[in-house]
Amino acid sequence: MHVPSPVSLQEPMVVPLKTLMGPGPSNAHPRVLEAQSQPLLGHLHAEFCKIMDDCKDGIRYMFQTENRVTLALSSTGHGGMECVMANLLERDDVILIAHNGVWGDRSSDMARRQGAVVHQIKEPAGSGFYLQELRAALDVYKPKVLFVTHGESSTGVLQNLNGIGDVCKAHDCLFVVDTVASLGGVPFYADQWGVDVVYTGSQKVLSAPPGTAPISLSENA
Ligand code: PMP
Repeated sequence: MHVPSPVSLQEPMVVPLKTLMGPGPSNAHPRVLEAQSQPLLGHLHAEFCKIMDDCKDGIRYMFQTENRVTLALSSTGHGGMECVMANLLERDDVILIAHNGVWGDRSSDMARRQGAVVHQIKEPAGSGFYLQELRAALDVYKPKVLFVTHGESSTGVLQNLNGIGDVCKAHDCLFVVDTVASLGGVPFYADQWGVDVVYTGSQKVLSAPPGTAPISLSENA
């Protein structure tokens, strides 16, 4: 073998315990770390299916939804966003993005890559959106999808979601919410607020390792 075994792999791996105070990753609860040291199962084992169903019930609880299509993607939060754009949008579909920071740009880029027509309603960084202005933009653009970031982590703005779902329904528009930076830190009620699609990330307020993006889709979506 012309590539020798790396010396570093012959040494024990050292992972220091750090206090993680940034917007993800955050320290995991010992119960989470313990769960990760359980034996592996096959994906068709009955025990595996039960654990998967239990996880889906847990995700329904944390999103406060009864949506049948509720699952954990094995991806980052970006993967959740990509999943939304790839599955809800087709070429020339219209999406309206509530843009008040970095995540408005990122979601717009992803939607454009699907060939969608992207319109933005903008507020300066540090501000949120009023229901009236969202309603007016829905009147003008008549989008198939409205995308809103619940916790805009580039500025710290928490968007009030109350009432947006009803306005979307009246405009026959799917209401999509990114809760990557907010879920678990503040209340969230997907069904009560009329949210059609919501996704989050595991490594922020939920305090689990990165790599899982819980997502839930309504019957309409
Ligand atoms: N949306 C928001 C609001 C975020 O704060 C982040 C991560 N900072 C993401 C999406 C992307 O998540 P990830 O880093 O897991 O890809």
